Amino acid sequence: MGHNITKIMRHVFNSITLAVIVYDNKADSYIINSYAKHLLAIDNNSNTITKAALSNITLLDSKTNTFIAISQLFLADHSSSILLKHHHQTTLLNVTRTVFCDDLIMLTLEHSNIGSSEEYNFDKIISEISAELIDIQNDNIDQQIDFALKAIGTVCKADRSYLFEFNANNQTLTNTHEWVNTGITSYKNRLQNVPKSELPYFFDVMNLTHVFQVNDITQLPAEAQSEKTEFEIQNIKSVLCIGLRFDNELVGFIGCDCVKQQRQWSDIDLIRIKLVGEIINNALKNIKYKQKLHDAQQQLINANTKLNQLANTDGLTNIANRRYFDKVLKSELKRCARQKKPISLIMCDIDFFKHYNDFYGHQKGDDVLKTVANALKNLCKREGDLAARYGGEEFALILPLVDAERCSEFAHLVQQKIASLDIAHEYSPIASSLTLSFGCYSCIPNSTTQAEEMINNADKALYQAKNANRNQINVYTT
Ligand code: GH3
Ligand code: MG
Ligand code: MG
Repeated sequence: MGHNITKIMRHVFNSITLAVIVYDNKADSYIINSYAKHLLAIDNNSNTITKAALSNITLLDSKTNTFIAISQLFLADHSSSILLKHHHQTTLLNVTRTVFCDDLIMLTLEHSNIGSSEEYNFDKIISEISAELIDIQNDNIDQQIDFALKAIGTVCKADRSYLFEFNANNQTLTNTHEWVNTGITSYKNRLQNVPKSELPYFFDVMNLTHVFQVNDITQLPAEAQSEKTEFEIQNIKSVLCIGLRFDNELVGFIGCDCVKQQRQWSDIDLIRIKLVGEIINNALKNIKYKQKLHDAQQQLINANTKLNQLANTDGLTNIANRRYFDKVLKSELKRCARQKKPISLIMCDIDFFKHYNDFYGHQKGDDVLKTVANALKNLCKREGDLAARYGGEEFALILPLVDAERCSEFAHLVQQKIASLDIAHEYSPIASSLTLSFGCYSCIPNSTTQAEEMINNADKALYQAKNANRNQINVYTT
């Protein structure tokens, strides 16, 4: 009969949805029900377990935020609220201790109904924030920092939390983000571009330890007078700050203030604020790296554009060079072939330029090349037109969508333009001012038409113009 009651009692003990642990002092072991085993994640078939089986469980006193062993809960009345940490999850439990006799002490553990409050979901909030901040976009970093500051302020039971960043001059600092509890004064607007020199003690400590932790500001040493004055203005009773570093240099800090009442900062507070500091710091670093990368990319693009320009431009005359001419002729040829539209090429060469150099000097000759090049460039203003220096004192003009008739009209326009410049050339056997000879070639290209063929034909026409006493326009004929 007695055996049956024990069996029934065991069944009842294991069925109730309340975690029960009884400490048997004589046996120095615990009697634990199924619900408690489930709650504490203890994998054991027996109801009796040893002390060692409970040693891995992490509990925190929710008031003092200090670690506490389960065995301690049996010894004396502790805070009724205990935080159970398991697999990154934090559960708030209400603990009741009942002493049956000296040898048997019972603990019951119940889920607290405030366990879901934001304060106890700190880990969850923080993991969400850090995930967000890893791939941060510039436009919502402020919101994420505000969120992180609120989380750390709340969980550390502070009245205010903030981020300070050093300014570019490294002499002043600015409060860039702040969270304040309801009814607490904000000082963010006042704390812009504050000289670092106003907080000498703070920065001495910060630079040395990267932590500034004061439980009671009245206990600050004498050399912290200016910090003390500032804290008193803001009504701060306790303060906890963590430095942020970039390339091993202090670049700012985050911190928490207690205004309503003093706080003995716990190790957990310190761990948590360090964690939040690390997250914010990484996000800020990311933004800086992204900015640097963007700047470097822009410089590379600019350098590339410049390089391309240089590679395609003739150094003396600043118009397109032979290389670019070849490229454009090929592509315009293809375009006109596709559209079954005409294309024209004019090759032109300064007459008796050797004489010019001989008489006026090479320097003056260079100036003439620049003047002629500039005139040609200004005439080729339609989209697709190109004036290039083909070599020496020879120029080439590409005129897409231009047929033979309009090509020779255009050549006459160029001839007139050069004449109007009236560049004195006393040693020219044919005229008193500088002249050019022109060779024109036009066609409606097909897919097999080659650029070389066009150049050869225009060159042949030019050769004939030279032979026909120069200063004239000759159109290629077969
Ligand atoms: P033609 O009417 O038959 O073209 O006679 P030309 O004297 O112009 O032709 P030739 O090919 O005999 O001489 C070309 C001259 O152009 C010789 C060369 O010194 C000059 N020249 C070529 N490139 C430059 C340059 O960059 N600067 C200067 N100043 N002269 C150049
Ligand atoms: Mg010449
Ligand atoms: Mg020549």
